[in-house]
Amino acid sequence: MTWFKRETAPLETSGEKRVRTEGLWVKCDNCRQIIWKKDLDDNLNVCPNCQLHFRIDARRRLELLFDSNEYDTFDSEIASNDPLKFVDLKSYSDRLSRAQSETGLRDAIINARGKLDGRDVVISAMEYSFIGGSMGAVVGEAITRAIERATDEHTPLVVVSASGGARMMEGVVSLMQMAKISAALARMDEARVPYISLLTDPTTGGVTASFAMLGDLNIAEPGALIGFAGPRVIEQTIRQKLPEGFQRSEFLLEKGFLDAVVHRKDLKPYISRALSFMSPAAA
Ligand SMILES: [Zn+2]
Repeated sequence: MTWFKRETAPLETSGEKRVRTEGLWVKCDNCRQIIWKKDLDDNLNVCPNCQLHFRIDARRRLELLFDSNEYDTFDSEIASNDPLKFVDLKSYSDRLSRAQSETGLRDAIINARGKLDGRDVVISAMEYSFIGGSMGAVVGEAITRAIERATDEHTPLVVVSASGGARMMEGVVSLMQMAKISAALARMDEARVPYISLLTDPTTGGVTASFAMLGDLNIAEPGALIGFAGPRVIEQTIRQKLPEGFQRSEFLLEKGFLDAVVHRKDLKPYISRALSFMSPAAA
């Protein structure tokens, strides 16, 4: 006779690890401080103790940048048609519909237009919680349209990146977006319309390799992971140990890849100042 029986819990095999912090308290990953969630919210989701910038979603981004949280969204109806009928652990179409119901978005991007310190701007904000903010045909098309709208209307553009890179489930279709967006940015540059790229944690892969680094001004939040390939891949390729803190905003600023590292609370005034410098007549 056995006195105790071991409960066998099913093995977690979902492959997607998600940290859910639904309680009232959040622990800072950096300084281990326990923070009341409301305090964190009031502090723009920045740890009051060590200034770690927690990730925030696309809607919160827009709220932080637009005046009185007022803006119009556009191009929100486009959705992926799963061109490769791709299946890995799950089918891509299942992943899409799950992400759509979780975020209330059709894909990993929100295009919006409104005022930033009284000045018209177009802001394209990526949503990391939608399949890792990956860039497929829809994100590529939405950003291209935002660029074209900004160019036509001669309105400055801000793109807020938060992305794991190209969306592998769309194969070459996702890689093609890099060229398409870059071409649209070149036209915008010729039309002399300012473009500010804001890189947030994380900005990697094909997004870094295209529009995120093509701004007239490339700025990042403190401590953001920014890179092309992951550190392990690079170490294996070059067979060298990588330096401490490499691929973080501050390191990239020091090496000249970024123009500034800006605290979240200073982002709006910083962008506003930069835009009045770039387009003095429009102020
Ligand atoms: Zn902290």
